Amino acid sequence: MARICIIGGGIGGLASACLLGARGHEVTLYEKNTQLGGRANRFEAEGFTFDMGPSWYLMPDVFENFFHLLGERVEEHLTLTKLSPSYRIFFKEDGSTVDMYSDLNTDIPTLEALEAGVGPRLKSYLSNAQQQYEIAKAEFMYKNYDSLLDFINLRSLIYGSKLSVFSPMESYVSRYFTSEKVKKIIQYPLVFLGSSPYKTPALYSIMNHIDFEMGVYYPQGGMYEVVKALVRIAQKHGVIFHTETEVSRIITTHKRATGVELGNGERVSYDMVVSNGDIHYTETQLLAPEDRQFSQKYWEMRTLAPSALIMYLGVKKTFDSLTHHNLLFSEDWKQNFAEIFDDPQWPTDPSLYVCAPSKTDPTVAPEGHENLFVLVPVASGLEYTEKGLEHYAERMLDTLEEHMNLPGLKENVIYKRLYSVEDFARDYYSYQGTALGLAHTMRQTAIFRPNNVSRTVDNLFYVGANTNPGIGVPICLISAEMVYKRIAGIDIDAPLADVLSSK
Ligand SMILES: Cc1cc2nc3c(=O)[nH]c(=O)nc-3n(C[C@H](O)[C@H](O)[C@H](O)COP(=O)(O)OP(=O)(O)OC[C@H]3O[C@@H](n4cnc5c(N)ncnc54)[C@H](O)[C@@H]3O)c2cc1C
Repeated sequence: MARICIIGGGIGGLASACLLGARGHEVTLYEKNTQLGGRANRFEAEGFTFDMGPSWYLMPDVFENFFHLLGERVEEHLTLTKLSPSYRIFFKEDGSTVDMYSDLNTDIPTLEALEAGVGPRLKSYLSNAQQQYEIAKAEFMYKNYDSLLDFINLRSLIYGSKLSVFSPMESYVSRYFTSEKVKKIIQYPLVFLGSSPYKTPALYSIMNHIDFEMGVYYPQGGMYEVVKALVRIAQKHGVIFHTETEVSRIITTHKRATGVELGNGERVSYDMVVSNGDIHYTETQLLAPEDRQFSQKYWEMRTLAPSALIMYLGVKKTFDSLTHHNLLFSEDWKQNFAEIFDDPQWPTDPSLYVCAPSKTDPTVAPEGHENLFVLVPVASGLEYTEKGLEHYAERMLDTLEEHMNLPGLKENVIYKRLYSVEDFARDYYSYQGTALGLAHTMRQTAIFRPNNVSRTVDNLFYVGANTNPGIGVPICLISAEMVYKRIAGIDIDAPLADVLSSK
């Protein structure tokens, strides 16, 4: 069995540690921050507990599959609550709201009120999305790509299924729906992927199957419980963790990864290295120029997923107008996406998201209080001053009060922390401070996304949101499974049935 070093304790790094440890490898994980979890981190302040990043527990089937691989059961680690409603949408243009339940019996009448006769079209759209999800899971999501031919075969398979999913999401959705409101509801899950409907292939309509038909869950205690579960399982399999320990270089010998150098200058030998760090950072800072596989031009041409302005708010009041997940949709959808992706600037009329986990979980805020997580997607790489950020945040609080029916919000905020582009860059070495990584455009999907194995250095692997399949907590679990398959030499495209039995 090999001595394996994992750089970074985000979801992908932790999940790889679990799988490789369970396989019997000697695994050591280095995390530069004080806490494990990466973007899925958590902090406590003045009686409030805040999940710092992910808040939507989606794709429960993927979690189940992952835990099963390790001989574990999700319910032994997480107490999941299915949210009802799944989320509430606030439309800025007329102040109306709709609740979505991930239940067609309730959701079709809701959408019929927005667009008469939409029911059969929604069913047909979702039936395609489901078919797409099944193809994706069996052939695409868990697949390691080695050549363009792999992708061409996949493309033919999908074309063969008569799903025209390589056109942009916006035009695909417009074939089914006419009302702007319904189109926004169908397109919003792309924001989870850090993408714009104008640039993302309709392949990702699978997100609607996940959203409408699989439901939205919450692990009691918060999303950080997922991190705690992964750490627990990894420790069970003997993984050694070093936090506050930065890797400053990947050592190579004759184009083979042979160890790492730590921030204090110590050099440690390993047989293999798996980097969960930002892929741009790993390539440009941890590898010598001759070991890199991408040019500066390559990085300049990437489309980055948005960054964000996040406000963590402790509020000494509760608000009936909010449910657990709340989305405020901007009036000019197109302009908002343009200000994030094409002409970067602080959005004039942004869509934004408010999570109020205290609606479901009494442990995350004192009684009679709410812990609100407010996220405004903004372009990566934006520059700002502290004062400018404060000013913009104040504007957003005014927007919340006015358009999400939160009177008195500002005067009841007793704790506030702002987090934005520079924080992502500092805390996670994130390229241009992107919150999510590389966007899911067609040119950054599957074979066109950075691969999980280095082309230039043997025994160097990548795991996490910037490699395949991409962004999101469950997706990073899949990424770990894919790296595991590579290292174990398992050439199976579908999800693995049971890692332990293949030992
Ligand atoms: C605000 C926000 C909201 C989100 N919402 C959701 C959601 O609701 N649902 C969902 O499923 N997903 C969501 N996501 C996406 C999801 O959180 C991420 O895709 C996922 O957590 C990324 O995991 P990762 O494996 O790429 O590792 P990362 O989280 O990127 O962690 C990488 C780790 O590597 C460490 N590291 C980097 N360089 C070094 C080095 N040289 N030495 C040592 N350590 C190093 C970093 O400190 C970091 O801890 C959200 C993300 C954000 C930011």
